[in-house]
Amino acid sequence: MSTIAEKLKKIRADIADTCLQAGRSEKSIKVVVVTKTAGIEAIQEVIRQGFVDLGENRVQHLKQVAEEVAAFLQENQDDPAIPEKVNWHMIGHLQRNKVKQTLQLCRMVQSVDTLRLAEELNTHSHKLGLHTNILLQINCSGEPQKYGAPVGAAIHLAEQFATMPNLRLVGLMTMAPLTMDKNRVRASFARAREVYEEIRGERIGGAKFKHLSMGMSQDFQIAIEEGATMLRIGSAIFN
Ligand SMILES: *Cc1c(COP(=O)(O)O)cnc(C)c1O
Repeated sequence: MSTIAEKLKKIRADIADTCLQAGRSEKSIKVVVVTKTAGIEAIQEVIRQGFVDLGENRVQHLKQVAEEVAAFLQENQDDPAIPEKVNWHMIGHLQRNKVKQTLQLCRMVQSVDTLRLAEELNTHSHKLGLHTNILLQINCSGEPQKYGAPVGAAIHLAEQFATMPNLRLVGLMTMAPLTMDKNRVRASFARAREVYEEIRGERIGGAKFKHLSMGMSQDFQIAIEEGATMLRIGSAIFN
């Protein structure tokens, strides 16, 4: 077995264990494999292991890797072990002048944190005839971070995003503070969960609002315990 396959197996086992402890179903967790540091061969191995949700944080790199992956899928279209397509997630800060290019590459943008960005996504989705899934990124870390809307603005932004006809607000995304302090990481995930439940309670986004994207290589177990439905994992697989 390749090291990538072994690492994926370990992550799957860790997710299963944590779910069991937390009384959750493994099926309630989707793993987005973050490929930003990975070479194409490693990514091919990930796809062979059955992972079809892939994430990138830079548009330029996303374009390059998405093309390489598309070529790989094309070459292996007769192989039943290889899926027909993968789903790309944009997970990093998105400049408005890169919106059009991003929409041509992925159907899910996890890092929407301002009204202006949402408006730009809506406008270009309309022009391209698309309905784009978005997550509202919020900053729950309790410290000024560069990206992510403040918690206090979340409900109002969610309401505005949900009215845009070519966007579908399908959940929230957050990043834990950069710290080794597990209590602070947990507190920030718990805060995100509260905001998520509040938005669901108000039925903003309707039944489609069902994703809580939080947890990375260092903290995904805590995120699962605090209610994550989507993990974004890179270095634990590729480094
Ligand atoms: C890089 C990145 C990840 C993955 O982080 P790892 O620590 O490598 O698992 C998750 N989310 C975002 C937004 C990232 O930029």
